[in-house]
Amino acid sequence: MNLYSILEKGFPKDKQSCALETHDGLYYSWSDLERATAKMANLLKSLKLPKGSRVAVQVEKSPEALFLYLATIRAGYVYLPLNTAYQAAEIGYFLENAEPAVVVCSSKNFSWVSKTAFKAGTQHVFTLDENRTGTLLERAGAQSDRFKTATVKEDDLAAILYTSGTTGRSKGAMLTHKNLSSNAKVLQKFWGWKKGDVLLHALPIFHVHGLFVAAHGALINGSKMIWLPRLDTAQLIHYMPKSTVMMGVPTFYVRLLADKGFTKEVTRNMRLFVSGSAPLLTETFNSFIERTGQSILERYGMSETVMLVSNPYKGKRVGGSVGLPLPGVKVRVVNENNKPCGVDEIGNVQVKGPNVFAGYWRMPEKTAEEFTKDGWFKTGDVGRWGGDANGGKAPKDYLCIVGRSKDLIISGGYNVYPKEIESFIDDMDGVDESAVIGIPHPDFGEAVMAVVVPKAGAKLDAQAMIATLKTQIANFKIPKRLEIVADLPRNAMGKVQKNILRQQYTN
Ligand code: ATP
Ligand code: MG
Repeated sequence: MNLYSILEKGFPKDKQSCALETHDGLYYSWSDLERATAKMANLLKSLKLPKGSRVAVQVEKSPEALFLYLATIRAGYVYLPLNTAYQAAEIGYFLENAEPAVVVCSSKNFSWVSKTAFKAGTQHVFTLDENRTGTLLERAGAQSDRFKTATVKEDDLAAILYTSGTTGRSKGAMLTHKNLSSNAKVLQKFWGWKKGDVLLHALPIFHVHGLFVAAHGALINGSKMIWLPRLDTAQLIHYMPKSTVMMGVPTFYVRLLADKGFTKEVTRNMRLFVSGSAPLLTETFNSFIERTGQSILERYGMSETVMLVSNPYKGKRVGGSVGLPLPGVKVRVVNENNKPCGVDEIGNVQVKGPNVFAGYWRMPEKTAEEFTKDGWFKTGDVGRWGGDANGGKAPKDYLCIVGRSKDLIISGGYNVYPKEIESFIDDMDGVDESAVIGIPHPDFGEAVMAVVVPKAGAKLDAQAMIATLKTQIANFKIPKRLEIVADLPRNAMGKVQKNILRQQYTN
C-alpha cells in the first residue's frame, strides 16, 4: 500500500488537464507529473540504495521539488525535507543525525552542503534549482518515464519530518505510509474536497502543513494547485479568484487583512480557508468574517501526527477553538495522573490513531517518554474541552488549545497559563501581540513576565497596562514585569520562540 498509489487513485482521468500552474506562467499536466516522478524514481532506483535509505532535500520550492518528494515515495525510500532557512551548523546536525544516502540541495549551496554530506557518509549529492536546472534533472532526464511504484508495507517509513524546533532542538518524526495516507483520506472527506476544487498553495513544502495537509489534499482529490513560491499577498490576491481552497498559517490571514486589495469580491470563488501550525487570534477570525463573510476553519496537528482536530466544514466554526477530533483520531485531555479532565478543566492533550507516528528517529528513549503505558502519545500541548474560547463559548466537545506544557508557569504554587494573560493583553488598545513567559524568581519559583509588541505608531505604557490587568485577572497571574519590544523572536515556521525569550530575560 504505497502512499503514492493511494494518492494516484484520485488523479483525474484526463491526464492532459492541469495539475500545477506556477506564478511564472507554467502549466504542468497530470501526465507531466507522472512522467517526471517516474524519471526521478528510476534515477533513485538506479543508485541501488538499501531499503529505508533517506533522501534529504533542502531546495527552494518548485514543481520539481514536489515531484522529487513523490518520486522518493514511489521508489519506496524515505523523504527527509529540510527547512530552506537552515544554515551550515543546522544542516550539519540533520545530516549527521539522519545519515541520508542521497542529498539534494540548491546549486548555490553545493560546495558546503556536499562537504557536510560526504562527511556524514552520503554517497550521492545532486542539485536542484527553482528554474528547472541542476544535476538531478540532468540525470533524471535520461531515465525512462515509466516506473512501477514500489510495493511497501503500511508500516514502512515514507518520511522523516523534523519538528519546527519551537521548544528546543528539532526531533525527527518518523511517518509511515499508513500515517500519511490515512490522514489524507480522512481530510478529503472532512473538508469536503470536490471535483473542480483548485488549491492556492503558498506554504513551504518542508513542513507537514504545506507538504502533507495541503499538497496531499489536492493530489488525492485530483485537484489543480496554483503553486506559488512563498507568501506574497499581492500574488494571493491575484490568484484567489481562480481558486476554491487555501491553507495558511495565521500570518497569511493577518497579512491579507492588512491589504486593502483583499475584498469580499476577491474571495467570491473560495469555499474554504484553513488555518493552522500556530494559534489564530480571535481578532483575526472575527475580522475575516467581517471582511469576507467567510469564517476561517482552524485545525490542529503536529509533525508527529499530521492532523488531529478540526473545526467542522459544515457546522459551527468557533474562533479560539480547534474543533472536533477527526474521524479515527482519539483525543483525551488528562491531568498529571493521566485521569480524564472534566469539561472546562485544563489538562494535557494526548492522542491515538492510525496517524500517530512510529517514533522519533534514533531517539528510542525520547520516544518511550512521550507515550503513556497504554499507548497514548503526549502531544506536549495543554488544552480543555469547551469553555470560553474568546470567540464565544465553545461547545463541550470542541477542543481549545491553551498552550504548551513546557510554557506552563508555576508561580507560588499556582498554575498560570500564558495564553489566558496574552489574550487580555492582546485585547488592549495599541497592542499588536504579546508573549507571556515564566522567569526564575527567588520567592515564587517562577514569576510571570509579559513581552509586548505595540501596533505600528502606538505608544504603550507598561504601568498602565499592568493596572488594567489588575482589574481583570487574579493577582498571581499579573506580570511582575512587562517589557515593550519591537518584535518577538520567531522560528522559520513563524512560531514564537519562548525558549529564547526565557533565556534572554533570565540573564
Ligand atoms: P518542536 O516540537 O520542535 O518544539 P513544534 O512543536 O512547533 O516544534 P510542529 O510539529 O511544526 O513543531 O508544530 C506542532 C505544534 O504546533 C503543536 O504541538 C501545537 O503546539 C502547535 N499548533 C499547531 N496547530 C495549532 C493551532 N491551530 N493552534 C495552536 N497551536 C497549534
Ligand atoms: Mg512539537
